[in-house]
Formats: sequence, structure tokens, C-alpha cells
Amino acid sequence: MTTPRRILDLIRHGQPGETVTVRGWVRTRRDQKEFSFVEVNDGSSMAGLQALVTDVAAEALQRVNTGASVEISGELVESPAKGQRIELKAFTLQVFGEADPETYPLQKKRHSFEFLRTIAHLRSRTNTLGAVFRVRNACATAVHHFFQERGFLWVHTPLITASDAEGAGELFTVTSLDLNNPPRTKEGAIDFGQDFFGKRAFLTVSGQLEAEIMALAFTDVYTFGPTFRAENSNTSRHLAEFWMIEPEMAFCDLDGNMTLAEDFLKYVFSYVLKHCPEDMEFFNQRIDNSVMETADNIIHNQFERITYTEAIALLEKASKSFEYPVSWGLDLQSEHERYLAEDLFKKPVIVTDYPKTIKAFYMRQNDDGKTVRAMDVLAPRIGEIIGGSQREERLDCLEQRIDELHIPKDTLWWYLELRRFGTVPHAGFGLGFERLVQFMTGMQNIRDVIPFPRTPQNAEF
Ligand code: ATP
Ligand code: MN
Repeated sequence: MTTPRRILDLIRHGQPGETVTVRGWVRTRRDQKEFSFVEVNDGSSMAGLQALVTDVAAEALQRVNTGASVEISGELVESPAKGQRIELKAFTLQVFGEADPETYPLQKKRHSFEFLRTIAHLRSRTNTLGAVFRVRNACATAVHHFFQERGFLWVHTPLITASDAEGAGELFTVTSLDLNNPPRTKEGAIDFGQDFFGKRAFLTVSGQLEAEIMALAFTDVYTFGPTFRAENSNTSRHLAEFWMIEPEMAFCDLDGNMTLAEDFLKYVFSYVLKHCPEDMEFFNQRIDNSVMETADNIIHNQFERITYTEAIALLEKASKSFEYPVSWGLDLQSEHERYLAEDLFKKPVIVTDYPKTIKAFYMRQNDDGKTVRAMDVLAPRIGEIIGGSQREERLDCLEQRIDELHIPKDTLWWYLELRRFGTVPHAGFGLGFERLVQFMTGMQNIRDVIPFPRTPQNAEF
């Protein structure tokens, strides 16, 4: 037997006359009079390999149905069929595992994404989810290439944290206390002092604060890992567990931050187009016919840069009527963000200098006393895809803001010390990885771009 080869490799490089072995799962079997066509897919590409099986394997063929796992050896031949260069003339066919046609749920017909979510253990074998997870893989690879090429250090920040510092709320508590009988304080509250970490701990909502620590030693760093938010919002853009990319740069201001964000998106889109052209074409044809145009738009246009104050003025002038009110001081809602990116500028828009009251405590305060050096990158179809800022590096300004917001300083002592010892201007941003994959593929629901989504009432698989 020859060493098994991946189907993508054969489709790209296989030559008629070669003897090869492939392994995978059967998508379809079509019986003709003298022989059968068996289409095999091993996940390496959208297209499978068509095998022509004659009575050399008649007995095994009886056990081959959609979903069965097989190994086929044979000779590559030029395919007379259109849409494929080569096919496999089988010499031997071996069945690893059968799939009963009465009960295997992925028979060849259209299934709704809702239904496919209920069979997440099988859905990756479909065309769409297959394409999604290959693109997801390419995106993740592109993230590392981008930062590594620029000398950024990949740092691993903790998933368990004791600081609710972000004030992002919506935290999952991590505990080893006996929930049926937790220790109590004199006042009757649960005594987290007796918990595993000696204080209340949570799953992290962001690795930023720790990334800042690392940036103040390595200059340019990034995190790429899971984050958790117990937000009870059932939207098509929120998960309880999602992956976040957070670059953090020392000696960098908001302009540098914006430039990095723009370069980053351009790079990742170009990379995915180059490495997954068939999958991207599939999304464009079957999921959203603006996928290619959007990618092109990202890669070739300079992002628009406007201040929050300018954005509000543009929204107030808009002929469109919005569900949520627009006025200086209020946060932008998704409909506003989409109006700016989708309708008005028709390309990504970076909005900067938001009111400090709607942004986190660590953002650098502007001289006007009202705004901070924040930035959000807004994308057509998606709205906010990146949120970032220049950080407050001045100890007195940071302490004053923390006090104003009544944030307990004791858990942040180390964060403050960074401003005491060798502080520098620094900046960074956070990008939701699934939002990026959604954006790229045109998939409507964020649950369909992560293999095993975690959402309210759902942690199956
Ligand atoms: P939103 O307003 O959409 O809830 P946010 O303001 O809470 O976003 P940040 O705290 O700035 O978002 O988080 C950084 C990035 O993480 C966001 O730009 C977004 O891409 C992503 N993100 C935030 N919350 C989620 C979530 N629940 N599921 C998936 N991605 C998320
Ligand atoms: Mn949120």
C-alpha cells in the first residue's frame, strides 16, 4: 500500500497514472450499471475526490453509504466529468466504519444551521462548516504570522483572574466551594476567603491588563486565547466563550494603534484569500454574495478615521431613522455603527475619542477633560469588530479616574506600579476572533463559526 495522501494535495498536485491511497468519509455513492461513483472527503478541501469503484470491490461497496469511513487505493486518471481534473480508479476499497442510511442525520440535502447546531459532533462534515473551520484555521495562522513577522511576542495571560477590574461585569465565578453548603461570613455572605484562591475568582473577560505588564518588558506583545463573558444576551454576535486577540505596544500612541489595526485586518484578509480561495468563493456564492467585495474593500481601501464627536454629528444629520437615540454622551448602538460603515462610508471606519463616561477607566484622558483616546473599528455588516485605546500611563491621572469611578484599588496595585516604575505611553486593542471569522465568511450567526459554541442554556458537546 502507498502512503495515504490528503485529498487537497491530490486535487492540486495529483498526476494521472499515479497510484495513491486516500482515506476519508463518503459524501455520496451513485450507482451506475457497471460501477459506482463514491465521493470521498477528508476535510482538507471543499472538493472531495471521486472514486470509480467497479466490481473489484463489490462486497465492500455494499457497506458504503453516506457517512461511512473508507480507505481507497487506486490509480489517478483524468476525469471526463466537468468540474474536476482527476478521479480515482479504485483497486481496493476498505470500510472502517459504516453509517446506517436510516439513522445517519447528514443525508445529502439542505439542513438549517439551527438543526446542524444540534449535531455539532457531525456538522463539521458538511460543506459550509468544513469551509468555516478551514477559514478559521487560516485566520488563526494569519494572526500569528502577522505579529511574529513584526517581532511581537505571543504572551499567555491567565484565564482565571481575581480582578474584576475591567468593570465589564458579566463574570463567571470560579469556585471549589461546596455550593450546597458554602462557608459563610459573620454577615451571612459566602466566605470566598475560604475558597481555593483565598478570594473570589473569575474567568477572565480580557487579557489586556496582564498584556500591559508584558508590553512593559517586551515592547510589543499579543495575546490570543479564550475569554469568557456571562452575558445573558442571545444575539448573533455574542458568545459566552470566545477567543480574543489583544496586541499591546509600548512606546505607541493611538495613531500607531489605528495603523496596526488596519494593517492587521488587511493582512488577515489577504492571507485567507490566498490560502482558502475555494472556501471563500463558496461563501460568496452560497452564504453572502458580498463576501468577496468586502474582502476587496478591506484590502484596498484606507479606513476612514473620524472622532466620536464627528460621528455623532453625522448620525444626527442622517436621513435614516434609528431605533436608539443619538446624542453626544450616549454610546453608539450597532445600528449606528453599521450606518457609518455600511451606508455612509461604505468601508471600515475608525471612531476615536469617545466620552470618558462610556469607556473603561484605563483609557488615556484627553486635555478636554471629557473624552479619552479610545478607538473602535466599525465594519460593514458587523459593526464593532475591534475596540482599543491608548492607555493612561500617568499615575496621577489614572488614580484620579479610579477614585472617580469608585474602583477598589487594592486588586490593582500592580497595575498602578507599572506607572510608578518605567511607565511609557502604550496602546493596544482587542479583537473578537469569532467576529473576524464571521465578517470574513458572511456567516450570519456567531454560533456557526466556532466548533462548539457556549451560549446561555447551551454547553452541549
Ligand atoms: P459589544 O458591544 O459588541 O458587546 P464590547 O464592547 O463588549 O462589544 P469589548 O469589551 O471591547 O467588546 O471586547 C473586545 C472585542 O471582543 C469586541 O470588539 C468584539 O469583537 C469581541 N467581543 C466582545 N464580546 C463578545 C462576545 N460576547 N462574543 C464574541 N465576541 C465578543
Ligand atoms: Mn459587550
